[in-house]
Amino acid sequence: MSDITRSQNDFDQARKLLPGGVNSPVRAFKSVGGTPRFFASANGAYVHDVDGNRYIDYVGSWGPMILGHAHPDVVKGVQETAALGMSFGAPCELEIELAKLVIDMVPSIDVIRFVNSGTEATMSALRLARGFTGRDKFIKFDGGYHGHADGFLVKAGSGAATFGEPDSAGVPVDYAKLTLTAPFNDIEAVKTLFAENKGEIACIIVEPVPGNTGVMLLHDNGFLQALRDICDAEGALLIFDEVMCGFRVAAGGAQERFGIMPDLTCLGKIIGGGLPVGAYGGREEIMRKISPDGPVYQAGTLSGNPLAMRAGLETLSRLRTPGFYEELERKTSRLVEGLLDGCKAAGIPAVANQVGGMFTVFFTDLAAVTCCSDVSSHCDLAFFGRFFNAMLEEGVYLAPSQYEAAFMSAAHTDEDVENTIAAANRALAKLT
Ligand code: PLP
Repeated sequence: MSDITRSQNDFDQARKLLPGGVNSPVRAFKSVGGTPRFFASANGAYVHDVDGNRYIDYVGSWGPMILGHAHPDVVKGVQETAALGMSFGAPCELEIELAKLVIDMVPSIDVIRFVNSGTEATMSALRLARGFTGRDKFIKFDGGYHGHADGFLVKAGSGAATFGEPDSAGVPVDYAKLTLTAPFNDIEAVKTLFAENKGEIACIIVEPVPGNTGVMLLHDNGFLQALRDICDAEGALLIFDEVMCGFRVAAGGAQERFGIMPDLTCLGKIIGGGLPVGAYGGREEIMRKISPDGPVYQAGTLSGNPLAMRAGLETLSRLRTPGFYEELERKTSRLVEGLLDGCKAAGIPAVANQVGGMFTVFFTDLAAVTCCSDVSSHCDLAFFGRFFNAMLEEGVYLAPSQYEAAFMSAAHTDEDVENTIAAANRALAKLT
């Protein structure tokens, strides 16, 4: 057993000071058991805990670290900018630079507003859709996680699903009634909601690559196109929540990869290169409704601060290197293939969903995992917990929940990938 004494002590201390000892629930390892590791540093594909153990990291701070940790150019850029002042609360030129870059990369965005997190992006986009259409209700999908704003904590995935509490206490029942939900991949259910709420639905918000119940595949059956068509027919807006899949599955996100354009896009994670940045953007006529151009209010003390903008610029500009996404996908496919082969050899039923550089391996005897309820009803969550802990022991850091995606970074080498497969084979051998 590796020594984790200091992490254990830190966790004991942290639990007295912070709810669950953490500042975001899934970090507490509640569904997988064991002691959360406290990290001291990270570089490239690795994170190092306070006891000196090294892990190959597939969490990547839950997605942002697509270049790997502490990329020298990003660190240098951030240091240079920090020395010039970290936040002005006034316009700066780096905001223009990052806006130009994102608008250039993400096909459906004409105008953009920067915020400080994915949650701010989605809650602001929802307000904008309501303000633009004059309608209050909206549709989200079961297991879709769009951050922790009140209206979204209805059948939410990720942390909420992990804890079996999809509806949070503190969300007013009457407010949650404005949130309509449908199962992933079920266009008939969406049509029924529109028929039952004629002229009342402002928007559909969807993760075009759902990642918060583990990675799901929505695009296979033309589902996204069907959502686009029904929004057009009903005068509702289509919002792609690309907080996770934006800049991850292609430079222009899922909309570029699948060729379907939303009215509004929400971004987060990679856009800040590890610093807190979110953004929402889209068609000019909609975005001009935002204050001070229009009547939809939204603001932020630290929004667009130069430090965060610089981290985003240094990160996003490197994603345009030719072959970047092909290479990410190649390594991810090899890892997924190796993990599935290992499960097969160990006699553990498993399937995987992968889109580009994100994937989830599910422990299930289903032929395919297509929705949230497949995970809750048909995946062996207890086995996942044991596998997760065995992988930690082998020096591989996965997300501590079956309901999460794993992320490849540009810093992972082929050797890291093969070492991960070998670690999984050893872990599986111990568990069977
Ligand atoms: N939307 C999606 C698809 C996400 O995956 C997340 C976070 O995981 C969010 C929104 C919320 O982003 P944040 O945690 O930055 O508030």
